[in-house]
Amino acid sequence: MSALGFLLKRGMDLKKLFDQMNQKHFDGELEVPILTWNSRLEVEAGRFIPPKSQWKFWKDQEPAIEMGAYLLEIDPPQAQEDQICIVLCHEMIHYWLWSRGRPYGHTEEFEEKAQQIGIAEMRIQGAVPTEKYLYECPNCLKNFKVKRRVEELACESCCQKYNKGVYDSRFCLRFVRYL
Ligand SMILES: [Zn+2]
Ligand SMILES: [Zn+2]
Repeated sequence: MSALGFLLKRGMDLKKLFDQMNQKHFDGELEVPILTWNSRLEVEAGRFIPPKSQWKFWKDQEPAIEMGAYLLEIDPPQAQEDQICIVLCHEMIHYWLWSRGRPYGHTEEFEEKAQQIGIAEMRIQGAVPTEKYLYECPNCLKNFKVKRRVEELACESCCQKYNKGVYDSRFCLRFVRYL
């Protein structure tokens, strides 16, 4: 059995954070991309995915930023917010370079922008390798394996289905057992 579901955290609104960072560091230049938490990201903390616009029929596809869902389990809360912010800004630089038609890898230009924002020297915490706790969604009964005791994490698919994708405490995970 593996961690199947996606999570949402109370008070953690990626779009809001994106808007704040966009105003603060990118002059509000960036359009909101698709923003998601990806529970399969462990080695990379996040990634920027450009649309495959070179093919005509995919023209409508939007750029996306995926964030490692494990970031939601970092303790304490202040450290978690910092980490999420650093990872998001890092991916936003890739996106920003791409949107200007620049090479968008870890180029000199990338480093320059990272310096300017103040995230160049900051380390991103990797995922904790072992999963110790089994949780489930009280509604759809989907299983979630997590590395720490978690609070205020809700099942994403149920929040999508019944609450327009916004965190809803009705779908807050409940502890099942130790693994
Ligand atoms: Zn990168
Ligand atoms: Zn659910």
